Amino acid sequence: MRKLLMGLRTSIKAISLFAVCSIIIITIVMSVYKPIYSVSLNGEMIGYCKDKAALQSKIFNYIENGNEENVAFVDISNMPEYKLCFLKRGIETNDDEIYEKVIGTGTTFYRYYAIALDNEEKLYVATFEEAESIVNGLKEKNSENVEQLSILQKNVTEKLELTDKDTAISNLYKEKKVVVPKSGGSVQVAKMGSGYKDAGITFKKPITATITSRFGSRWGSNHKGLDFGAPTGTSIYAAASGTVTYAGWNSGGFGYLVIISHGNGVQTLYGHCSSIITKVGATVKQGDLIAKVGNTGRSFGSHLHFEVRINNVSYNPEYYL
Ligand SMILES: [Zn+2]
Repeated sequence: MRKLLMGLRTSIKAISLFAVCSIIIITIVMSVYKPIYSVSLNGEMIGYCKDKAALQSKIFNYIENGNEENVAFVDISNMPEYKLCFLKRGIETNDDEIYEKVIGTGTTFYRYYAIALDNEEKLYVATFEEAESIVNGLKEKNSENVEQLSILQKNVTEKLELTDKDTAISNLYKEKKVVVPKSGGSVQVAKMGSGYKDAGITFKKPITATITSRFGSRWGSNHKGLDFGAPTGTSIYAAASGTVTYAGWNSGGFGYLVIISHGNGVQTLYGHCSSIITKVGATVKQGDLIAKVGNTGRSFGSHLHFEVRINNVSYNPEYYL
């Protein structure tokens, strides 16, 4: 009986000692070594990887971004296969080499934006914002072809030559012809009104510019409008909705002139324009672009001459703006 107890005690001691030793050994091994993976690509063994998570994330990052500019994505058709292998002594890992081999099988797709004219691709830029700013630049310059322009996204496997914004605008710009009415058309000379007369409608300032000359007597004569000084090409907008009743050259001194009739004998005039972006008979809404500032006719310096007429009498536009 005693012998039996002794024997049991000895074996319990031995088992405990073995367990403790094993835990210590495993702990040491785990802290020194990491699991190692053998890696194959298309069935071919290409090496051993020390840090699978890092290698994977590096590969995914490459797929999303590539390592050049304008990469849309990289197509890697065959991803590597990993197999855990147990602590082989003296195994050399080659994570970097595996990475290079894997990305070497990829096809890079580049993303560009094409500006097309009537669906024919004319030039390429790197971002959508850039393409948009070129189209907006052409709109601002009132290029004749803005309606035919479009922006297309391109994913291509070859690199394309890019065009910078200024070059793009000057290559695509097409000047709008100034509208000159064939029949000339005459403009009645208006009388000079004094005081305020109700026009029955609300006007909006036709231009973003400062007043350089007011309504009233000037240099011994009467100035029947309001002058806004602004660089040639500045946009002029309809002060109120109406119908264009004159759009063309005026030999009386207004140069290129637009007249809009707003009904009930109310008219607005826009003189000395460099170009006209509307035509006789057109219906315009308040704020529509109708012309560009110029220095045509009897004008000394680029400006807009703006008049408000009621029953062919000119009133001080400042009453109405
Ligand atoms: Zn004037």
